[in-house]
Amino acid sequence: MARAYESAKRVLVTGGAGFLGSHLCERLLADGHEVICVDNFFTGARRNIAHLLLNPHFEVIRHDVTFPIYVEVDEIYNLACPASPIHYQHDPVQTTKTSVSGAINILGLAKRLGIKVFQASTSEVYGDPDVHPQPEEYRGSVNPIGPRACYDEGKRCAETLFFDYHRQWKLPIRVARIFNTYGPRMHPNDGRVVSNFIVQALRGEPITIYGNGMQTRSFCYVDDLIEGFVRLMAADNVTSPVNIGNPGEFTMKELAEIVRELVGSTSPIIFKPLPADDPKQRCPDITKARTLLGWEPTVALREGLAQTIAYFDQLLSKNKFLSAT
Ligand code: NAD
Ligand code: UDP
Ligand code: UDP
Repeated sequence: MARAYESAKRVLVTGGAGFLGSHLCERLLADGHEVICVDNFFTGARRNIAHLLLNPHFEVIRHDVTFPIYVEVDEIYNLACPASPIHYQHDPVQTTKTSVSGAINILGLAKRLGIKVFQASTSEVYGDPDVHPQPEEYRGSVNPIGPRACYDEGKRCAETLFFDYHRQWKLPIRVARIFNTYGPRMHPNDGRVVSNFIVQALRGEPITIYGNGMQTRSFCYVDDLIEGFVRLMAADNVTSPVNIGNPGEFTMKELAEIVRELVGSTSPIIFKPLPADDPKQRCPDITKARTLLGWEPTVALREGLAQTIAYFDQLLSKNKFLSAT
């Protein structure tokens, strides 16, 4: 197939049918690239990529990254991994395997082809941080045997593998540490706070705050995040990890109130127990992304939430039986 532009590449996106992956596939196609989406559809959904299936530059392979894969591509974004606590704790051993064996296979593929490979890492590598906001140099405070460890330690080990392939094989790598991201195509039932609150508010059900609601998170709108990915991939020699997230920090209580107001909902706010190892504060230090990539988020929380609410409103009116939790 002829490529749209001279600079066009064939790009592999693992986890391409997921929330972030589908937005990334869309962006890469819009930039004139060919995209191969690899996904085992554990948490991904066909509806996320349905609109891309007729695009002749888009291809889907149903495949589990814990098994080797042989394709010929120019660049790889490795996003395959369940991302929400409900999903990654469903089969924790498979979660660790996806991060670790998945990274080995994808790095082996990149090594054979001698190509650049991008890892979707996470703010969870910082665990329940005792440094605030978190710069990339912070080494984290992670419980290696807790219920979140399959995800946190899996992602930490994946970073180790990326840096060892870089040192040992001179592989060009990019590592993004992603902070909480929201937007259209989040799962309605993955238990994450933004989707839970929006679905609950739209249905007039109680909004469930875990703990006292004073824990904080910083929420990045998906379009901003994808712009950060593309810039990081294109940047010259930015090998060390880069935080990508929105430094605007909100308590869960504030978030519940904003969502309720934007939906125009009368849902009551109720309090439930805080899950184990739930981080108290999380906020990225994005100095590095600003300096090295000239990147910073542009979409304000209320603006991004309005887009996300519109998405869920439409989704719920089509699928009346989707549950929020
Ligand atoms: P998601 O669950 O929507 O997407 C993950 C995708 O990976 C899904 O399509 C799923 O089917 C696929 N997948 C899972 N295991 C696989 C396997 N073994 N083989 C092949 N495909 C597999 O989650 P997301 O929010 O889009 O997250 C994408 C990536 O970004 C993940 O690596 C996640 O850890 C990272 N991340 C996301 C956030 C966030 O806020 N969304 C924050 C930090 C890091
Ligand atoms: N691999 C893959 N696709 C490739 C090349 C390698 O899936 O195109 C897998 C391969 O199965 C191996 C892993 O990547 O298990 C690591 O490859 P590497 O070359 O680093 O190690 P080795 O093959 O020596 O184990
Ligand atoms: N949370 C909440 N109510 C919910 C879902 C989550 O109060 O219905 C809290 C959760 O305990 C955490 C924060 O919101 O403190 C963010 O949770 P999420 O699962 O979205 O992300 P993560 O904890 O992985 O950052």
